Amino acid sequence: MIPRSAPARPRAEWQSILAASVTDPAELLRRLRLDPALLPAARAAAAAFPLRVPEPWLARIRPGDPCDPLLLQVLPLGAETQPQPHGYRADPLGESEALAAPGLMRKYRSRALLLATGACAIHCRYCFRRHFPYAEAAAAGRWEAALAWLRAHPEVDEAILSGGDPLALPDGRLAALAAALESIAHLRRLRIHTRLPVAIPQRVDAALCAWLDGLARLRPVVVVHVNHPREIDGAVAAAFGRLRACGATLLNQSVLLRGVNDDAETLAELSFRLFEAGVLPYYLHLLDPVAGAAHFEVPEPEARRLHAALAASLPGYLVPRLAREVPGAPAKTLLGV
Ligand SMILES: *Cc1c(COP(=O)(O)O)cnc(C)c1O
Ligand code: SF4
Repeated sequence: MIPRSAPARPRAEWQSILAASVTDPAELLRRLRLDPALLPAARAAAAAFPLRVPEPWLARIRPGDPCDPLLLQVLPLGAETQPQPHGYRADPLGESEALAAPGLMRKYRSRALLLATGACAIHCRYCFRRHFPYAEAAAAGRWEAALAWLRAHPEVDEAILSGGDPLALPDGRLAALAAALESIAHLRRLRIHTRLPVAIPQRVDAALCAWLDGLARLRPVVVVHVNHPREIDGAVAAAFGRLRACGATLLNQSVLLRGVNDDAETLAELSFRLFEAGVLPYYLHLLDPVAGAAHFEVPEPEARRLHAALAASLPGYLVPRLAREVPGAPAKTLLGV
């Protein structure tokens, strides 16, 4: 492990970009030339779940368009603080019950999820973890208990770095964790669930590629999170290319979101853009009923129709699996064709 007292390294470029993210709703509205009348509601919603938008994401939003699909994912709205429909709650997936060790969540038999950090580079308003006490649940660099649990569970052959966003951690910490995981013989794959290469493509730098490429035995799988084709600009596509060049298999998960990607043409275009950037679609998730996100819901019958339309027009390998998470189920529950 990297000693916590190690001398401070110079900040990587991505860390400077992360530190300069927009967190003030007034600045977001001003920069995007949006109606200042949105401010009081944005402030109220941001008090419950702060605004966070890094510059590379901001640059992909069309100024002056309050319905921009990239804006809707990050703009705090009055709808978040309205009374929520029945069933919308703080911990929709019962995750607090799935903690098997500090910083380790286990729901499915062969995979375990490491809560590497509570931090993210971007705050997605629909996030099912918006109320989860990550600061308490994340291992915060103290991996001993999670590693001991993994050593004692030979039926687990895949470790998933999750969070928050694991790539919000510095590479020194990630490299040390990956080395510790490599020493557990029954682990075969290392999966990373991250939105950072999309939010800040500069995150995929030489230091990240060095430790990924240096994995001797574990096969790396990076599952990114893209909801709309316009999220993939040239810089993001290049970042995906760098991840592939250092040996990672790339998959994408999306959330089906009202106003963002709730039509078949947008979803088909997303699959094409992903494929052109070297990523295969993996999951299209139904929204988890987290309090504050009800305005993003696409009802299941409509989701099934959209998915059927996709399946009727795309090659099978470009059709994501439509899934919902049912607390207590042995795997994600697949819907549709
Ligand atoms: C979604 C999820 C996984 C991964 O499931 P896959 O179907 O293998 O992608 C693992 N653990 C938890 C707790 C999850 O929520
Ligand atoms: S990056 Fe992922 S974990 Fe972080 S807020 Fe967005 S959806 Fe949630």
